Amino acid sequence: TGRPRPAITDLPAYKPGRSAAAAEADHGIRDAIKLASNELPFGPLPTVAGAISSGIEQIHLYADHGAGQLRSDLARFLDVDVAQVTVGAGSAGILQQICLSYCSPGDEIAMCWPSFEAYPVFALLVEAEQIRVPLRDETFDLSALAAAITPATKVAFVTNPNNPTGTVVGTDEIVAFLDAVPSTCLVVLDEAYNEFVDDPRVTDSTRLLDDHSNLVITRTFSKAHGLAGLRVGYAVGHPDVISMIDRTLVPFAVNALAQRAAVASLAAVDEMRERVATVVAERARVRDALRTRGWTTPDPQANFVWLPVTDAAAELGVALERQGVVTRAFPDVGVRVTISDTAGNDRLLAALDASGVTPR
Ligand code: PMP
Repeated sequence: TGRPRPAITDLPAYKPGRSAAAAEADHGIRDAIKLASNELPFGPLPTVAGAISSGIEQIHLYADHGAGQLRSDLARFLDVDVAQVTVGAGSAGILQQICLSYCSPGDEIAMCWPSFEAYPVFALLVEAEQIRVPLRDETFDLSALAAAITPATKVAFVTNPNNPTGTVVGTDEIVAFLDAVPSTCLVVLDEAYNEFVDDPRVTDSTRLLDDHSNLVITRTFSKAHGLAGLRVGYAVGHPDVISMIDRTLVPFAVNALAQRAAVASLAAVDEMRERVATVVAERARVRDALRTRGWTTPDPQANFVWLPVTDAAAELGVALERQGVVTRAFPDVGVRVTISDTAGNDRLLAALDASGVTPR
């Protein structure tokens, strides 16, 4: 079987959220819903579906590796130069490219924790040391993170909103962090859930790029745009950083149908925002219903809510799943639940009531 790298034999593969079908088979139930991967509860917009269908005629041809149309549309949308934008196979693909482009074995990658579970996978992949700083009040602690950065730290992840807690830090705090971090450390502002934020302390982070050439912002078409199955993410930063990220893109990684869908979705940004507003309104309703029932939940700013139930997390996850509501339990930490449509959210609330776990 060959000789795999020791770093890879030690590497646990990324574990995606459980499917509804797996829960149905395990518990002998029907009509399970998956609220485990922070997906949008809506299918494609008609113009996006149309762009994908008409693209089928061309699938014998390679995609445009440089994604020229999508990059220039993104540059116009973000009001930046086209050399400041690139796309990759999901923002996870871009985060992996960033680690490949910036970290050698023994370098450090800093993050607060718990956060997005792919970061440790990418750190192990490039044989970088992880510096994990605990969250404070379920939120990124940027002063502690800045204090933990050393000359060997090549990448620092700032996840805003954070996954799995859904909390945000204000843009002022990010500016102070950037001012405190040496320019030898690339600050990766992971904004996968940016479009769902309604906290006024968070303003447009792309405006920080002019003064901070070691900042790169990543976003995605998977969440607000509802294109998780197609794998398109993007990065915005200094042209030199973008050029370094581009060097580790697998040839034609963003496929032709995904590029077409992303272009169409960007052209339908008003409809996208309407759908996001629907999710944000449901999020407020679920947050209030949870608090009324006695559950503690930090202010949710992404398309999910976080129940920091600590040692009851595994039990609560299984109790919900038995009732056909598949969530993401982080044993001994908490349970993360994706905001769905009204019917899905009502099922969650009913399943929580019947879970047998006391609200805390
Ligand atoms: N960043 C964060 C914080 C996430 O939660 C996710 C998805 N779970 C991603 C990045 C990656 O998403 P995608 O690759 O679909 O763009």
